[in-house]
Amino acid sequence: MKNTDKRIGIISNRKRQSQEVYYLLKDKLRKNNFILNDKNPDIVISIGGDGMLLSAFHKYENQLDRVRFVGLHTGHLGFYTDYRDFELDKLIENLKLDTGAKVSYPVLNVKIHHGDGEVSVKRALNEATIKRSGRTMVADVVINQVHFERFRGDGISVSTPTGSTAYNKSLGGAVLHPTIEALQVAEVASLNNRVFRTLGSSIIVPKKDKIEVIPTWSDRHSLSIDNQHFLYNNLSKIEYQIDHHKIHFLATPSHTSFWNRVKDAFIGEVEE
Ligand code: NAP
Ligand code: MN
Repeated sequence: MKNTDKRIGIISNRKRQSQEVYYLLKDKLRKNNFILNDKNPDIVISIGGDGMLLSAFHKYENQLDRVRFVGLHTGHLGFYTDYRDFELDKLIENLKLDTGAKVSYPVLNVKIHHGDGEVSVKRALNEATIKRSGRTMVADVVINQVHFERFRGDGISVSTPTGSTAYNKSLGGAVLHPTIEALQVAEVASLNNRVFRTLGSSIIVPKKDKIEVIPTWSDRHSLSIDNQHFLYNNLSKIEYQIDHHKIHFLATPSHTSFWNRVKDAFIGEVEE
């Protein structure tokens, strides 16, 4: 593919620093004969943090098979961001050398069954978290048609491998390498005593397994899908599986290894 055949979309947050990078990048891409196209892009560049990459994912979630993403971070490196704002020229060079290589990671498919029989489907790049508004959530957790436990507590988070370093990690979940195709179910403040019992630890389920969360009370629940939030007044069931589509990232020489990112984000250098 020649540069002139590659359609590039750019999405940026509103911070001044990101906006400056946005215009600079646009200019450099034009000078190098790339076509700017936000509607049907082959490559999407997100400018901002991991949160911005989540927004880019949701903007193009119906075109996942064609699009490859690149994250450019104004500040430190993120989990979904490969370039920093002073590396624009390096990014342009890598785009010129690009032959279509990609790295792909699993996406979460969430099927929401409403009390009136309606079903809606959403996708998550990080995780989906269900909570009951204001009261203890009581829900049956079913894995592959087997009743696993009756959960009582604040809520349940189901995360992807790349989402395992986000909310899942704060919940005490494990960090999962993104080449492992699995989902992680983590409890949010479960109630455990002599009467009520849940497993207590997070679980990692393989590809093709289906997790179902069936609330006992169908009243007000909130569902957070990455950085989006929804409220439901009549919820009968949520099903979680690995989606048929993956997210593709542009594979570039700058792609920092996953364990390096984890170390960089959470540990830093050890003092001698
Ligand atoms: P935010 O509240 O602005 O950011 C939450 C933080 O999580 C930011 O530092 C963000 O990085 C980082 N982050 C996002 N995805 C990550 C990933 N896959 N691995 C490691 N860190 C990640 O919200 P946001 O930026 O829109 O991100 C939404 C995400 O925030 C949700 O999907 C959820 O995972 C997470 N969250 C975490 C908690 C918690 O830990 N208690 C609570 C609510 C939500 P950037 O600064 O680069 O954007
Ligand atoms: Mn953010």
